[in-house]
Amino acid sequence: MDRTQYDMVVIGAGPGGYVAAIKSAQQGLKTALIEKQYLGGTCLNCGCIPTKTLLSNAQVLHKIKKAEEYGIVTGPVKIHYDKMKARKDSVVKGIRESLGGLIASNNIDVLMGTCEFQSKNELKIHGEKTTLLSAEKVIIATGSDTLDIPAFPCDHKKIFNSTSILELEKLPSSIAIIGGGYIGCEFASLFIELGVKVTIVEALPSIVQAQGKDISTFLTGVFEEKGITLKTETFVEKIDTAGEGVTLHFKHGEGVHADIALVAVGRRINTDGLHQERAGVYTSEKGAIEVNERMETNVPGIYAIGDVTGKAMLAHVASHQGIVAAQNAAGYHATMHYNAVPAVIFTDPEIATCGMTLDEAKEKGYAAGLGKFPFQALGKSQAALETNGFAQVVTDTKTGQILGAQVIGHEASVLIAEMALAINNELTLACVTETIHAHPTLAESWLEAALIAGETPIHFPPKKR
Ligand SMILES: Cc1cc2nc3c(=O)[nH]c(=O)nc-3n(C[C@H](O)[C@H](O)[C@H](O)COP(=O)(O)OP(=O)(O)OC[C@H]3O[C@@H](n4cnc5c(N)ncnc54)[C@H](O)[C@@H]3O)c2cc1C
Repeated sequence: MDRTQYDMVVIGAGPGGYVAAIKSAQQGLKTALIEKQYLGGTCLNCGCIPTKTLLSNAQVLHKIKKAEEYGIVTGPVKIHYDKMKARKDSVVKGIRESLGGLIASNNIDVLMGTCEFQSKNELKIHGEKTTLLSAEKVIIATGSDTLDIPAFPCDHKKIFNSTSILELEKLPSSIAIIGGGYIGCEFASLFIELGVKVTIVEALPSIVQAQGKDISTFLTGVFEEKGITLKTETFVEKIDTAGEGVTLHFKHGEGVHADIALVAVGRRINTDGLHQERAGVYTSEKGAIEVNERMETNVPGIYAIGDVTGKAMLAHVASHQGIVAAQNAAGYHATMHYNAVPAVIFTDPEIATCGMTLDEAKEKGYAAGLGKFPFQALGKSQAALETNGFAQVVTDTKTGQILGAQVIGHEASVLIAEMALAINNELTLACVTETIHAHPTLAESWLEAALIAGETPIHFPPKKR
């Protein structure tokens, strides 16, 4: 069988893989992109985009519920979840089609099929027909998949995962969500707004624990106010699906009954059927492909990026790693750093973090300080009826360098960009306070938090001496 020769073959067309393919082609490498299912990967098809499309419905409903406070009287509100789902599908389909056009415009050959290594430079693709490729360089971008718990595997009728739940056509009256990380909390935010009774069961002492205790405590309060039942330090042993609905049985204490359950307990690294071992590529005990800061695996000429590396599992990290890998493959020198990765949770209110929390900065030996400003004190928050939340800046008190930032509140996803730029460029509090921030905007919360961190607050009472 003939082999087509490429300078670069990228395996997996998620946000890591397709970006890496575009960058490779831009640098003059003859590039092929292999995808076994859908262009856009998890992010576009069953992750970032469908969840945020559904969550945007919840945001509209949230505004409608508050309409009277704005002086607007509405009539009875009806939810057509089937239409929300249809809109979500059409957004995904539309982006997928334009992505196909974008990839083609970069002269990248797309091959649909499952790819496996034959050797370091030889790949076999099982698609409509079997194809063999020779590749000078390879980027592995095969991502991650949903994680099934053996004690209660998903049947996709009553027990769902984050992919199958997106196919619901009708809202349940109640849902038990196993896992209080960002995926579980985003779904909780969606369903509670749409009138579903929500219980979150989390084995750890708090929800969104990775975001630090200030954020976690605040979100816990907001979720409880919204009527979400939180069961932390609770371990689900089994789920009974006999009869109506599902019953969750806990290791200790009484269980919970709901119409359906959603399992959102993390992701499984995906190298299924890839046979990277035939190329000599090492994986860790958890199955992640090991890479250095240049995104190189242990095999020269083979790179890995995105979720499959087990590093910060976020779409924008995968894309950035893709650029780094493609640059190195083309003979440049690029490295990946993780000290300024913005991470957003699209709950209501939104959460966004970048860099270190106060505790992390102290653990690393910094003389760390904090400036925290409540949204309540912002004119724009009051005007928009969005006063819930705060922005805080973590600094090195010796140098004024900004080490981290956390924000919970309206438009936190947009706000974090300023802090990502500041942290990535090792800027100081003075860089923020000397920058004119437009008024009235939510971005003024960073200015005020930086002023408080420097103990020169303007719109906040001074510290009592
Ligand atoms: C519910 C949910 C919500 C999320 N929300 C966000 C968010 O808001 N923001 C954010 O940054 N991240 C979010 N994520 C995470 C984000 O989706 C991932 O971090 C991102 O998709 C990883 O990109 P990737 O390119 O590494 O892999 P993936 O997107 O998983 O893509 C891998 C691709 O490789 C293909 N593939 C696998 N094996 C083979 C093979 N052998 N041959 C050919 N093709 C193969 C797969 O079909 C897939 O298309 C979310 C994830 C989930 C599940």
